[in-house]
Amino acid sequence: MMDAGYLGHLWALTPHVSRCCFARVLACEGGREERVYRCSNCGSQAEGGEARVLCACGSVLADGSDARIRCQVNEDPTPEYPGEIVAAELGNGP
Ligand SMILES: [Zn+2]
Ligand SMILES: [Zn+2]
Repeated sequence: MMDAGYLGHLWALTPHVSRCCFARVLACEGGREERVYRCSNCGSQAEGGEARVLCACGSVLADGSDARIRCQVNEDPTPEYPGEIVAAELGNGP
C-alpha cells in the first residue's frame, strides 16, 4: 500500500471545520462505531463518535473549559471568510 492509502476510503464532508487549520473535516464511513475524522487540509486525524474530536467545536481554553467556538454554516460569505462552513464564537446570548 502507498502512503496515500486513505484515498481508497470513502470520505464524507461534514459541516465542520478542523481546529488545526479551519479546513473542512472529512468523516470516514468505515462502518465502525467510532468514525475517523480527517482534516482535508493537513491530514490530521482523530477517532471518535463526533466531529468535535477534530473540529473547532471541540476547542478548549488553556484551563480545559469550552472555548465556545462552534462550526456554523456561513450565511454571509465575504472575501475574508469565503468558506461554506466557518468557526465562530458563540454570542453571549440572552
Ligand atoms: Zn488541519
Ligand atoms: Zn464542529
